Amino acid sequence: MSDQLSESEAAQKINELKPKLKQWSQEYYEHDKPSVEDAVYDQHYAQLVKLEQQYPDLITADSPTQNVGGKVLPQFSKVDHQIPLLSLGDVFSKAELDDFTERLKKNYPKVNQFNCELKIDGLSISLRYENGIFVEGSTRGNGQIGEDITQNLKTIPSIPQKLTKPITIEVRGECYMPKESFAKLNEERERNGDNVFANPRNAAAGSLRQLDSRVTASRHLSTFMYNVADYNDIQADTQSGMLAELQELGFKINPDYQVADSLTTINEYIDKYQAKRDQLPYGIDGIVIKVNQLDLQMQIGATVKVPKWAIAYKFAPEEEETKVLAIEWTV
Ligand code: NAD
Repeated sequence: MSDQLSESEAAQKINELKPKLKQWSQEYYEHDKPSVEDAVYDQHYAQLVKLEQQYPDLITADSPTQNVGGKVLPQFSKVDHQIPLLSLGDVFSKAELDDFTERLKKNYPKVNQFNCELKIDGLSISLRYENGIFVEGSTRGNGQIGEDITQNLKTIPSIPQKLTKPITIEVRGECYMPKESFAKLNEERERNGDNVFANPRNAAAGSLRQLDSRVTASRHLSTFMYNVADYNDIQADTQSGMLAELQELGFKINPDYQVADSLTTINEYIDKYQAKRDQLPYGIDGIVIKVNQLDLQMQIGATVKVPKWAIAYKFAPEEEETKVLAIEWTV
């Protein structure tokens, strides 16, 4: 449909999409209170991507496709991410995923192994350790600058205060609210006449960005770490090896990752976890497929927004989420 748009029609459509997406992003990232479902956001975003691909001259630096979502709230100190925290490109079908892996293999013939991971529905955090001691933790923010939430992160039991080795390292991963904690929290809020959270992701984000760390402590958050800022700080030479190394250092990692040598194995992994999704004690909104060799990851690199060596395969939205979202926010 949109491939029939002329450049001026596309420009007009882009000008309609950008402010809409920006407003939704603001609600989602800055206030932790989305007014539309993720699927609605994703559809509009995909439309924008398509139009910008057709007319690259219409891409502007302020486009949502060129920026990692979220601004730093003024009540928090800022943390400069020396190495940016990026988002992920996404696909919504196996055909698109196939295209992605085939394109990578064609451009980088050494790519022969992928690591499949669950896409945890939480928010990115970055943890800095000096000589093995946890010194600073932050949100992703806009990818370049995050919010200093060190005191809040110190209340989360899965985050080690001290590593098993006295190394200096920055580790990245996801902070999430387990489904059980989310259900209890919303029940309690409903009883107290407070607004309920739209989904576990927003509840986790709202719980982490608190000025009183006792509130964070009461929210039973957890973490899965899956990356390091600088690969020189670790011994591993693969993504899967990195996860094992992070676990040895004392981090909680998600154990359900799998190395895949073929698209068939990737598809089986997707089917397995799509079917198991409801039984997991935490929310997942897809699968992340990453080139397993770290040297190749570095060679392939990133755009201003996403790594080019990984992709998120997004699941269709859960019905329950849609229902909860219908509850209006009044703050
Ligand atoms: P994203 O959540 O789609 O994917 C990137 C993030 O996935 C990473 O930053 C990381 O935090 C996370 N992640 C989880 N498990 C991971 C793993 N194993 N490996 C690597 N990363 C992992 O991207 P985003 O930029 O954080 O958010 C965009 C999405 O947010 C949209 O697709 C949309 O669904 C949602 N959104 C919704 C609204 C709304 O109004 N409802 C507004 C803005 C954004």
